[in-house]
Formats: sequence, C-alpha cells, structure tokens
Amino acid sequence: MSEFILVYDEIYLKHDTGDHPESSRRLLSAFRTIERLGLKEKLRVENSRKAELIEIAYIHSEDYIEEVRRICESGGGYLDFDTPLSSLSFEVALHAVGGVLKCAEEIAEGKAENGMALIRPPGHHAEINAGMGFCIFNNVGIATRYLQYHYGIRKILIIDWDVHHGNGTQHAFYYDPNVLFFSIHQSPFYPGTGRIDEIGAGEGEGFTVNVPLPAGCTNSAYLLAFEELLVPIASEFSPEFILISAGFDAHFLDPIGGMDISSEGFEKMSKVVRGILDNRVLLVLEGGYNPDALGYSVAKTIKVFSESDVEFEEPYNPPIDRISNKALQAIKEALKKQKDYWNLA
Ligand SMILES: [Zn+2]
Repeated sequence: MSEFILVYDEIYLKHDTGDHPESSRRLLSAFRTIERLGLKEKLRVENSRKAELIEIAYIHSEDYIEEVRRICESGGGYLDFDTPLSSLSFEVALHAVGGVLKCAEEIAEGKAENGMALIRPPGHHAEINAGMGFCIFNNVGIATRYLQYHYGIRKILIIDWDVHHGNGTQHAFYYDPNVLFFSIHQSPFYPGTGRIDEIGAGEGEGFTVNVPLPAGCTNSAYLLAFEELLVPIASEFSPEFILISAGFDAHFLDPIGGMDISSEGFEKMSKVVRGILDNRVLLVLEGGYNPDALGYSVAKTIKVFSESDVEFEEPYNPPIDRISNKALQAIKEALKKQKDYWNLA
C-alpha cells in the first residue's frame, strides 16, 4: 500500500450556495462514502490550511481577489448568474486552495506518494479576473504554480476529466510549454470553449490538448481517448508531477452532465494515469452533482491511487458500454490535430 493523503475539512461545508447543485451535500456524501466503505482508515486524512493571498495571486489579479473579499464582507452576492457567494465564501475558497497546496506540499516533499484534495468550491472555470461556473479561485492552477515556484518542479501535466471544459486552467497556461493541459469534455456544452483547434499559443503552442466528445459517451470512449491521445502525449511530454482536475459530472447519473461514465470508468481512467506516473499524482475535486454517484466515483478513484484492498461496487446499473460513431469520429479528429505536435500512431 502506498501512502495517500486525503485533505478534507468541515470548513468546506460553510460555502453556503442555497438551493444550488454545487452544495455541501455533495462533499459530505463523498466523505461519508469513503468512511462507510472502510476506505478512510487506509488513508492519511488531514485538515486544510488557509492559502495566503500571495498564493492566490499566482493566478488571479489583485483586483479580482479584492472583489471577492468585498462581496463576501458585504454579506454575499453573485460572481456570475450561477456562482453565488455567501459571507463565508472568501474564507472557504482560501481553504479550498490551501487544501490543494497542503496535498501538493506533502507529495512534493515525499511525505505522501499520491493524494486527493476533497474540496469545494471547485476551480477550473475561474479565470484570472473572474469567477464563473460555480468556481471562485483556480485551485489546480494555483497549485501548479506553487509546485513550480516552491519545489522547482518544472514539467507538470494537468488532466481535466470534468465533463465541462476547464477554460480557466487552459487560459492560465496557454502560453506555457512547461504545463501540458489535457481536457476531455462534453461538447457542445458549457462553457463553450475547448475546441480541438485550441492548442496553445506562442511557446505554449501544442501544449494544450482538447478532446471534445459528444454527449452519451461511455467508459470505452473515454478509455480509447486516453490510450490514443493522453498516454502517448504524456509519455513524450514526460511530466514530473500530475494534477487531475477530477470532476465526476461525466457520471451517467449526474443531473448536469450528459455523459454515461460509471464509477468503474473512473477507476479504469485512474489506472491509465498511474501507468503514466506511478506517484506524484494529486487529484483535486471539481464537479459531480449526484451526491451518491460522486461518493462511489471518488472512492473508486482513491482506491486506485492508494492501492487499498477494499472491494465495493456502486449499486446502479450503468448504460450499455459501446462507442458511437460520433464519438469515434471526434477522437479521430482530435488525433489528427495533435499529430502536428506529438508522435502519434
Ligand atoms: Zn463540471
């Protein structure tokens, strides 16, 4: 068994979004499922720390950070139509980033092999100057810069398997050849970015890889995209550290996403990632809006990265697993585009 750190903190329940799919219920369900399945005792579970404002500024502008603080201090409000802030949201968002940084520290210093930050609010839609899509600060983006600045880790792979495209993360590293951003997502869908031809720019050209897939994709389609694109590109890039924007809203029971992935699918995707890098992988929770499905999906993923000998299955029947012609075509088109930059079959 390898040492796995899980950061979870009750402060994450205090980002009060009211009647909203991104609620504390999801996180509680995920944590309780890990407990109930006997997985928690196999992990090192730690509370978060609070991120410093200077750490938030690795990605975000001072004006934006100040705006979030001001809205929260005045009792709350909205960053966009679907991103509510309560009076405590600024504080919670700082702890969400801090939870990711704590995991990153532990792994970078060799105190843990892999880890997961079970946090909220999520982060991958947050732009330099704006929060959106339930996201306040870009947790994964900030952790990426932190690992580079504090630990001299240069080449970092970000895998974003949330059902939505991670526009904020993509934009933060669009010109950076040391950060490879790989996103597999539903398209057309919110937020509208993540086309195949968004491939990075300047020195970063070729270091953004988008695999937009039609709704209804099952485990096999995701695994095919991983085998055909992610594995060979990642091997050639040779990352020193992997961050996963681990959203679980591609699950077939998710009320927002339109994909047909099962918790077993997330387990298999995790195994593929471990084949790229056996340790120094940090999972960061993004979306996932069916609390039960989220619980099982998180648990299956942690099981792979912690090598825990706990057996369980989600109690739902997944859709029939077959790859549609539309999905095949989408993967082929992504491959064709990426051949300009990587040695692909
Ligand atoms: Zn999402």
